[in-house]
Amino acid sequence: MPLSDIKTRISAAEAAAGRIPGSTTLIAVSKVQPNERVEDVLNQGHRCFGENRVQEAAGKWPMFRERFDGIDLHLIGPLQTNKARQAMELCNAIHSLDRPKLAKTLARLAQEIGHCPDLFVQVNTGEEEQKAGILPADADGFIADCRALDLPVRGVMCIPPVDEEPALHFALLAKIAARNGLEGLSMGMSADFETAIALGATHIRVGSAIFGERTPD
Ligand SMILES: *Cc1c(COP(=O)(O)O)cnc(C)c1O
Repeated sequence: MPLSDIKTRISAAEAAAGRIPGSTTLIAVSKVQPNERVEDVLNQGHRCFGENRVQEAAGKWPMFRERFDGIDLHLIGPLQTNKARQAMELCNAIHSLDRPKLAKTLARLAQEIGHCPDLFVQVNTGEEEQKAGILPADADGFIADCRALDLPVRGVMCIPPVDEEPALHFALLAKIAARNGLEGLSMGMSADFETAIALGATHIRVGSAIFGERTPD
């Protein structure tokens, strides 16, 4: 679907929810997409992108940054501590702060490097065993611990279970954000971003709807 159509749908969803126009950031998820497709979206003026692997991000974004100004890169996938430094140097935001060990590593590196990307705490709202993220019951404590480490926590993020009504998960995430005084809500993908906007998403992560289906690796 053309980028302009996605933007029209975002505007309509914001209007329907009585939200401020432009209050939703569209993260174009470019993982596993051919560079020509990414470049096409860059040429349309879009600058905010998401990747879920540090290595893949490192392989394309320094090159694109040489050619395009103002790129805003978000890491949305799991982060190993041994890739944390590279992620911090490459990305403007990390949406997958999902465990105490990673929080401690990011805090140490932030001191060393002198800056830290915006952070989103990933919450496992579906309490799925195979999925990363802090359990909802532990979220308040974890966010407090991150703040005590001086980490710039801007919001929370979730990936709802595939077979459940996403609205329930988005509403739960919004509640966790509100009671912790966090503004950022990273939720909603190609299939459900309008629902996410209705429930207050500030960052939607949309891949296949913009770029087409990903070819499996
Ligand atoms: C791939 C991915 C997306 C985008 O998924 P689409 O269904 O293609 O929009 C969003 N969030 C995360 C964490 C992802 O890994």
